[in-house]
Amino acid sequence: MEEKQYLMLPGPTPVPPRVLRAMARPMINHRGPEFKALFEEVTAGLKEVFRTQNEIIIFPSAGTGAMEAAVVNFVSPGDKVVVVSIGVFGERFAEIARRFGAQVEKLDFPWGSAADPEALAELIAKDKEKEIKAVFVTHNETSTGVTNDLCALRKAIGDHPALFIVDAVSGLGAVELETDQWNLDVVVAGSQKSFMVPPGLSFLSVSERAWKVTEKCTNSRYYWDIRAAKNYAEKGQTPYTPALPQLAALAESLKIIKKEGLDNIHARHRRHRDMVRTAVRAIGLGLLAPDEVASPALTAVIPPEGIGADEVRKVLHQEFNVVVAGGQQTLKNKIFRIGHLGYVQDLDIIAVIAALEMALVRCGYQVELGKGVRAAQEVLLNS
Ligand SMILES: *Cc1c(COP(=O)(O)O)cnc(C)c1O
Repeated sequence: MEEKQYLMLPGPTPVPPRVLRAMARPMINHRGPEFKALFEEVTAGLKEVFRTQNEIIIFPSAGTGAMEAAVVNFVSPGDKVVVVSIGVFGERFAEIARRFGAQVEKLDFPWGSAADPEALAELIAKDKEKEIKAVFVTHNETSTGVTNDLCALRKAIGDHPALFIVDAVSGLGAVELETDQWNLDVVVAGSQKSFMVPPGLSFLSVSERAWKVTEKCTNSRYYWDIRAAKNYAEKGQTPYTPALPQLAALAESLKIIKKEGLDNIHARHRRHRDMVRTAVRAIGLGLLAPDEVASPALTAVIPPEGIGADEVRKVLHQEFNVVVAGGQQTLKNKIFRIGHLGYVQDLDIIAVIAALEMALVRCGYQVELGKGVRAAQEVLLNS
């Protein structure tokens, strides 16, 4: 029954049938009026999700493409930048910045914890000459299931002129993020996480301040040049052929998002986080992230002593058709990650917890069946 798989990854996430159907529409001229209307519709819808009046650039790419765009358009070779890292995706931003010639100062926190705004404030305070050109931060660290306090981190740099650049690929649309209210200069997102669209689109919002930096930026770029994208956007076009099926899908998913409402969507994600965490505790397993910083988008679970995370994942997949993600790099086989972002409803969570209990029994761990399910049901009924 491959079409009924429980795809509980932190991306790609399940796609609603009506969004999938939208992708089957015939192609249109990307230099014609139908495209202009589609492009303007999705751009307006994205601005609502980003909660911004800033320009939004849409790239036909994976999320990492927009991360690269967030470097090459704002950082010149030799520039000093700070990368706040709490996991794999923080490391990725640092690596991209290094490859494009930045002098990267890392501000690292242990994997499983969030960034401390005070530590960032201290680092910024030391920069008397205002040499730091940008601060890169991950909104929701997908490798550990931790959400950073973006608003506090932004406040930590105060009126220092550095741009504040955010990777919100797995957070935006699932977890609160206020681009304008929090004064975020550049925010990066992607189609395949909470937007409920297949992979292939990435988004980048750009503040007025950031546009000024772009004009003077000396880094090389062609595909990722946001100036070209802006010029074409004024005509309702993109510089090169857009991913038409994904854009049609996005138009459909934005309607679904608008109907449910962002605040309700955020509340649903928090509820699912609480259901999963309460159930995992009831079963007796560990959680990588502490409650205060636990992500509403996904949960990193530590399996029982002596059982590898990948063994649990294998049983979940083979016997119950439930797909969860593994740990990355140093967390490989130490955790598994349950994605609960995007097109996920309450009973999906209950089903996954039920499968997890049975998979653990198969792996030789003594679970009282129904204990986690009951805990999740109670959270749901009391929410
Ligand atoms: C998924 C993800 C990315 C990268 O997305 P790709 O589409 O795989 O390039 C970047 N940052 C975070 C936080 C993510 O979760």
